[in-house]
Amino acid sequence: MTDSPWCADFLKWSKSVPMQSIELPEFDRAGLNVIVRRDDLLHPAISGNKAYKLLGHLETAHRLGARLLVSFGGAYSNHLHALAAASACYGFSSLAIIRGERPKQLSPTLRDVEALGMQLRFVSRADYASSNVDSLLVRLREEFGGFYLIPEGGGGAAGTLGLKLCMEAIAHTVDSAPDAICVAAGTGTTLAGLARYAQGDKFCKAAVMGFSVLKGEGNLGATIRKLTPTSLPLNETFHCSVTDQFYTAQWRLIHGFHAGGYAKTPKGEVLDFWRRFESSTGIPLDPVYTLKMFWGMASLANQGYWQKGSTLVAIHSGGLQGRRGFACPEI
Ligand SMILES: *Cc1c(COP(=O)(O)O)cnc(C)c1O
Repeated sequence: MTDSPWCADFLKWSKSVPMQSIELPEFDRAGLNVIVRRDDLLHPAISGNKAYKLLGHLETAHRLGARLLVSFGGAYSNHLHALAAASACYGFSSLAIIRGERPKQLSPTLRDVEALGMQLRFVSRADYASSNVDSLLVRLREEFGGFYLIPEGGGGAAGTLGLKLCMEAIAHTVDSAPDAICVAAGTGTTLAGLARYAQGDKFCKAAVMGFSVLKGEGNLGATIRKLTPTSLPLNETFHCSVTDQFYTAQWRLIHGFHAGGYAKTPKGEVLDFWRRFESSTGIPLDPVYTLKMFWGMASLANQGYWQKGSTLVAIHSGGLQGRRGFACPEI
């Protein structure tokens, strides 16, 4: 364990995240025991999986002596929101490269991050997607001297390391070994991190299942394979832990529940499910990620996908600040 203040805090928060059993007709009919790990409650501002993904990056930046953290995202980015909050909390400076021209009125997310002291640089969508971003990074290096760059969404190998805390907390709280750990997958970094730390008795039979929120399979599978090798170079060893060992990952990607694609407004069956889920469980979902996972889990239950009597742990990966970009059900 390093003596960094964030390591100790993240560990403490992670241990106090509640696990909540939920009941829905789909799960009851299929004889499933569904437990939600409420990582949306991890911290009011450094929420959900974005906190775990940041941890390894904060450690790496600290080790390298960097004080400025630079990253990328869109106007409703959960990652930038968590990054701005963590930076403010732990004395880093932060700067975000935002996709799209600066609008007259900033989104609630960007207003928050600016208030937290994050600097914003807007680049056109075309430049954002091209190598022009590289020349912007060169200019930023000239301007600031140096910084630690975090990939969009907090991804990359360092992004997987903090998921160890999440898996350890699950192992400590479940009575018996779950059959599946479910999570929404965007870049797949969280899925890779969970798979990486699915070790020990409590995970002997667990498949880590990622519900892709993206339309089209892209290179998500390849990214996850790259992040879940069977051995890791030493320089990727996570400093919050004792040692990192060899691991074998059991993970699966589920496609088909993207509900129209990334950040599309839910309609029809999905919208109905969203309303019904929130009113019967009292748990708010975000329409970009967690709604798709739960809808996918329930749809698979209807299809007889899970074995009767299975215990499924669903990670509520947070993202609720992003609800401000959508018309949401009242709960
Ligand atoms: C970013 C995000 C995800 C996806 O995480 P990846 O590591 O990119 O797969 C899932 N849920 C929420 C709420 C998120 O904000």
